[in-house]
Amino acid sequence: MDRVIVVGGGLAGVRAAEALRSKGYEGALALVSAERHAPYDRPPLSKAVLAGAEDDTRIDTDWAALRCDLLLGETATGLRLDDPRGGTLATTAGDLPFDGLVIATGAAPVTLPGDGPQHVLRTVDDALALRSRLTEGTRLVIVGAGWIGAEVATAAAKKGCRVTVAEAADTPLANAIGPEIGALTVPWYAEAGVELRTGVKVAAVDRDGLALAGGGRIDADEVLVGVGVRPNVGWLDGSGLLVERGVVTDASFRACLDGAAPGAAGPGAVRHDVVAVGDVAAWWSGRYGRRLLVEHWDTALNAPEVAAATLLGEDAAYDAAPYFWSEQFGRMVQYAGHHAASERLVRRGDPAGRKWAVAWLTGDRLDAILTVDRPRDLVQARRVIAAGTRVDAEALADPETPVRHA
Ligand code: FAD
Repeated sequence: MDRVIVVGGGLAGVRAAEALRSKGYEGALALVSAERHAPYDRPPLSKAVLAGAEDDTRIDTDWAALRCDLLLGETATGLRLDDPRGGTLATTAGDLPFDGLVIATGAAPVTLPGDGPQHVLRTVDDALALRSRLTEGTRLVIVGAGWIGAEVATAAAKKGCRVTVAEAADTPLANAIGPEIGALTVPWYAEAGVELRTGVKVAAVDRDGLALAGGGRIDADEVLVGVGVRPNVGWLDGSGLLVERGVVTDASFRACLDGAAPGAAGPGAVRHDVVAVGDVAAWWSGRYGRRLLVEHWDTALNAPEVAAATLLGEDAAYDAAPYFWSEQFGRMVQYAGHHAASERLVRRGDPAGRKWAVAWLTGDRLDAILTVDRPRDLVQARRVIAAGTRVDAEALADPETPVRHA
């Protein structure tokens, strides 16, 4: 392999380039990224950057030492896999041949219908544009009480904006952690002076705010839409790769071919010269026996090491339990694991208090944990989840007892 291209200059793309070199890859290396900025970190955008405490979240990488050509402000527009070991990437900078490709194009925010102005928050330009509008007294309406919505509400309320969060579900975070646990965060909004309106279906964003389905409206000076993201996969149309929401991969991040029927143990036929990683990848998790599409920083940080090893012909697989955090309403919320198939919940501490956690179990196996200002629990639980050892549910319910295997 002597010509590798990384598409996408987010964290996953950067980490893939770094991992390729640290694993001894000596050939040509280029990173193509649609943004004109050098790669930067996104989590601070909704936290320190919006708050005005930070402007520059650039990822500290020495591109010259990495011997990586940066093609910034250039977009991949198509992919031809005409050779079994290599192909051509069509880009706004021309056609680029490769014999190894890393797809790390991340995801883009979903927007709402309507011709009124709507902010989204994915890029540093988005963050700076929104920040400039968050002045005292501004009526900000945030659509979506998810992770981004809650973090923006936190920053905006601190700046003296009049913040309303409009959520379609009956509770915040219903999709991510389920309505029962999402409901525990409802009081945080009022406490921060933020109005939370649930069960609100938005029909369109117009010049004066939101028009609601079935009549009614919420007037606003500024609208932020935080209703989720979609992987950036449009440029892969016709490439022959299997795309189902994200780019489907095996547990080693090798891209699957369209039409290759996935078996019970994961995907079917794969390309050995194309890997996908980060928010764009729907990868096979051996741990959970299902495909995961994890849109969180920790996966973008750690999975590229495996993707790079795979591309270089090593036998590697990614089997980590997902992890993420969110800083909202003065609290550090952390989650590790995967609870889609869990049987029961165990509460640890009083959710009306400042510090608590909930754990999801199947039998006596710890599937996942969500902690609020209990970082030690999170670290301990991550170890137990990774090891897959048994826990004692009664001990787990006692916040004074460390989270450990039975
Ligand atoms: P991205 O960061 O999306 O990078 C993809 C890059 O590819 C972009 O630069 C894009 O412009 C480029 N690209 C797209 N299409 C093309 C194309 N066709 N050609 C060339 N380039 C292209 N996670 C957490 O765990 N905790 C947090 O607190 C947290 N906070 C967040 C706050 C914000 C505001 C945002 C936006 C995300 C946050 N995340 C958080 C999620 C985390 O940042 C993402 O999971 C991570 O950025 C994913 O990295 P990535 O490299 O896969 O994709």
